[in-house]
Amino acid sequence: AKDLGRNGFQLYSPTMNARSFERLAMEAALRHAVRRNEFRLAYQVKVDLVSGRMSGVEALVRWHHPEAGLVPPAEFIPLAESMGVISDIGEWVLREACRQCQQWRDLGLPPVRVAVNVSALQFHETDIPAVVGRALRDSGLPPHLLELELTESVLMQRVDEVAGVLRDLRAMGVRISIDDFGTGYSSLSYLKRMPIDALKIDRSFVNDIFSDDGQVAEEGASIVSTIITLAHNLRLKAIAEGVETVAQALFLRQRGCDEVQGFLISRPVSGEDLISLFDRNLLP
Ligand code: C2E
Ligand code: CA
Ligand code: CA
Ligand code: CA
Repeated sequence: AKDLGRNGFQLYSPTMNARSFERLAMEAALRHAVRRNEFRLAYQVKVDLVSGRMSGVEALVRWHHPEAGLVPPAEFIPLAESMGVISDIGEWVLREACRQCQQWRDLGLPPVRVAVNVSALQFHETDIPAVVGRALRDSGLPPHLLELELTESVLMQRVDEVAGVLRDLRAMGVRISIDDFGTGYSSLSYLKRMPIDALKIDRSFVNDIFSDDGQVAEEGASIVSTIITLAHNLRLKAIAEGVETVAQALFLRQRGCDEVQGFLISRPVSGEDLISLFDRNLLP
């Protein structure tokens, strides 16, 4: 679609012009943001469904555009990928997340894991174990407190190579989870070949456990139960994302899901605001 803007006919389309101008402006702003380091991290709690305590947090990148305000990552991450700057952003996210997690430890707070999202492009174009090793060394964070969230798309390409990289990461002590599990196009065969620790049940599935009238929706509920069972049979943890209601949390606990994350517990917050959520029961 990028090439359409260069095509002579399209030049006469005012909407197309407006759109490609907007995109160019956004690209320039993003390049600027990468140079000036205009990103922040927000942290969303993961709760252990047995203890009710914080078991970890997921780091989520935030970009404050000087004029447009907060630009959602779902918009600028794909742009960053197409511009070839995703690995720069990704490395900053990783380093900052490790630094922040170590700072919580230095404050004497109970240890929690920090999870960092790694895009497929970043995974394939950089030496991830080397970047992770540096981030851990420079921050002083113990490797077992770092988790990487990878989407199924990472695991689909160059399977043997990817499995090797994941083995290296796990040998360092880093944990690996599969993000948005069930939404990719993958066959399940990769699961037994990939050294991983957890499956994250996508928000769309969690949303389908109950119908709008509050009744259990048979199909939706059985998909979620099946993913939990699958995870446990493979000796993996099951983590549900996008949990918004007490009913969803109770259902997930009753089905043996290990951890939940969602607006019910907490929205993503700053590293400072997270401090009040440590060391207490977070389940309603
Ligand atoms: P994700 O990894 O699936 O992250 C979860 C997203 O769901 C976050 O959106 C979070 O704010 C949102 N969320 C959490 N709980 C709830 C809930 O109860 N209800 C609803 N409706 N939403 C909930 P966010 O922060 O806008 O991030 C969107 C996506 O952008 C992420 O999806 C992830 O794929 C990507 N992303 C975010 N940060 C990074 C990053 O540092 N690096 C990379 N590569 N991707 C990132
Ligand atoms: Ca994630
Ligand atoms: Ca998701
Ligand atoms: Ca995602």
